Amino acid sequence: MTSKRLTSLKRKIAFAFYIVVGMALFNGIIAIVLSQQLRTEIEHLVTKDVVKVSTALKLAKDTEKLQIITTKLNHYDNELQRLQLLAELSAQWGLLIDNSRTIANLEISPQLHQALNEAIDTQLYYMQQIPLLSTLTDNALQAKLQAGNIQANLTSLTSAFGDKMQTQLKQINNRYPSFLAHKDFSAISNNIKENQLVSEFLHQGEHLFTLLAQVKNAEDIVQLNQLQREAMRHLINMETVLAAFDKNQSMYVDWLSQIRQNIVGDENLFELSRNALKNTHIANAHLTYQANAAQVVAIFTEKLVEQVDSQIQQAGGALKNHSTAFVLLIFCGGILYCFFIWLTSWHFIAKGIIKPVIATRDAMDAIANEKLDTPMPITDNLELQQMVSSLATLKTYAAQVKAMAETDGLTGCYNRRYLDSQLEKELIYANDHQMPLSIVMFDIDNFKQFNDRYGHVIGDQCLKQIVNAAKSILQRPTNTLARYGGEEFMILLPSSHLEDAYKVAEHLRETIMGLEIPHEDSPHGGVVTISAGITCWQPPQLLDANSLINRADEALYHAKLTGRNRTETLLNVAQHSS
Ligand code: GH3
Ligand code: MG
Ligand code: MG
Repeated sequence: MTSKRLTSLKRKIAFAFYIVVGMALFNGIIAIVLSQQLRTEIEHLVTKDVVKVSTALKLAKDTEKLQIITTKLNHYDNELQRLQLLAELSAQWGLLIDNSRTIANLEISPQLHQALNEAIDTQLYYMQQIPLLSTLTDNALQAKLQAGNIQANLTSLTSAFGDKMQTQLKQINNRYPSFLAHKDFSAISNNIKENQLVSEFLHQGEHLFTLLAQVKNAEDIVQLNQLQREAMRHLINMETVLAAFDKNQSMYVDWLSQIRQNIVGDENLFELSRNALKNTHIANAHLTYQANAAQVVAIFTEKLVEQVDSQIQQAGGALKNHSTAFVLLIFCGGILYCFFIWLTSWHFIAKGIIKPVIATRDAMDAIANEKLDTPMPITDNLELQQMVSSLATLKTYAAQVKAMAETDGLTGCYNRRYLDSQLEKELIYANDHQMPLSIVMFDIDNFKQFNDRYGHVIGDQCLKQIVNAAKSILQRPTNTLARYGGEEFMILLPSSHLEDAYKVAEHLRETIMGLEIPHEDSPHGGVVTISAGITCWQPPQLLDANSLINRADEALYHAKLTGRNRTETLLNVAQHSS
C-alpha cells in the first residue's frame, strides 16, 4: 500500500477548477482595477488639466486686455470714455480674479496654489483701487474743465481789452493833427504821455495774455509757477501803468481786478491747472501701478501656462507609461494564467488522474492477459486506489481461476488444457529460435489391474506419488509436466534433443520403479512401472502439436507393445515402422 495520503479525485478536480477560476478572477480583477485607474487618469487629464490650460490661456488674454485698457486710460479724451475705460478695467480685474480662482480650485501643486492666492490678493487690491483712481481722474478732469473755463473767460476778456485799447490808441493818434494845427503843445505833450501809457498798458497786456495762453500747454507745476510769477509781474506793471493814468480809468480797473481774480483768486487758472496736473500725475502713477500689476499677472500667467502645460505633458507621459505597464501586466497575467492552467492540467489531470488511470488500465490489460505477476499501480487518488484494490482482489481471483484452469485437481501437476497451450507456445519458440523440442509421454503399466486390486483411492495415491517423483527429477523450470488424461502424462522438454529426452524418460522410469509401489499383478518385479514414448521435433521440420503428440503416443504404444516398463523413441514414422 502507498504511504501517500489519499485524496478524492472529485475534490482534486474541484480544487483544480477553483484554481483556474480563481486565477481568471484574479486576472479579471487586476484588469478591471487597472483599467479603472487608467480611466480616472484620462478623465483627470481631460476634465481638470485641459480646463486648467484653457483657463490659464483665458487668463493670459484677459491680462493682455487689461494692459491695453491701462494704456488707453493714460490718454482718454472725455469723461464718457474715461468712465467706460474704468468700468472695463474693473471688469477685467474681476475676470482675472474669477479665472485665477477657477485654476486655484482645480487640483494643482501647493506652490502653484500659494502663488495663485497671492496673485488673487494683488488683483483684489488693484480692483479695490479703481474707485480711488476714478475719483482722482474725476478731480483732474474737473480741475481741467474749470481751468478751461477760466482760460476761455480770460481769452474773451483779452480780445475785448485788446480791441478797446487799439481803438483808444487810434483815438489818441487822431488827436495829433488838431493839436498840431492849434499848436497846442501842452496837449500834444499830454497826448504823447497818454499814448505812451496806453501803449505800455497794451504791451504789458499782450505779454500777460501770451503767458496765460501758455498755461494750457504747461507740462509741469514748476513751469506753471514760473508762468504765474511772470503773469503777476505783468499784471502789477499794468496796475502801475493804470495808476499813472490821470483820467478815470474805472473800466480798466474792473477789468484788471477780474484778471487778477482769475490768476490769483481762490480758484484761479494756475491753481486749477496745478490741481489738474497733480491729480493727473497721481492718477497716472496709479495707472502705471495697474499696468505694472497687469504686467506681473501676464508674466505669472505665462509661467502658469508653461507649468500647466508641463503638468499635462507629465500627466500624458505618465498615462502612456501606465497604459504600457497595464498592457504588460495583463500580458504577464495572461502568461501566468496559462502557466497555472498548464500546471493544473499537468499536475492534477495528467499526473494525478490520466497517468494513474492509464497505469490501472495497463494493469487490467495485463491481468486480462494472464500476466498475474504485474505489480499494482500506485496512486494517491481515493477513487483510483479503490479501483486498484478491487483490481488486486480480481488479480488474486484470476490467479486462483488460472491455477484451477491449468492444474490437475488430483495430482497438482498441469492439466491437458495447459499442456495444449504450452505445447503450441513451445513449438513457436522452438521454430523461432531454431531449437529442438522433445516430448515424453508416459503411461502407468497395467493400472487397470492396480485399481481393481487395490481400489481407486490407492490408485489415486499412486498417481500422486508418480507425479511427485516426476516433479522431483525435472530440474529445469522450463520443463512442463502435465496430466494428459487418466494415468497418462506428458513432459515437454524445450531445447532438448532426443538423447536428453531419452535420459530424462529413463531416469523417470527408474525413479518410479525405485518407489517400489507394490503391484502384485505387475510382471515387472511386483512394483508399479511406467512405459514412456519420446519424440523430438527438430528444425526445419514442419509439424503441428497434434502430429507431435501422435508420434509420442505411437512411441508409447510401441513401448507397451514391446513389453512395457521401457522407453521407446520415435523420430519419424519411417523409424517407427522399422
Ligand atoms: P496398459 O499397461 O496397457 O496401459 O494397461 P492398463 O491397465 O493400464 O490399461 P489402460 O491404460 O487402458 O487403463 C487405464 C485405467 O486407469 C483405467 C482406469 O480405471 C484407470 N484410471 C484412469 N484414471 C484414473 C484415476 O484417476 N484414478 C484411478 N484410481 N484410476 C484411474
Ligand atoms: Mg496404463
Ligand atoms: Mg492408459
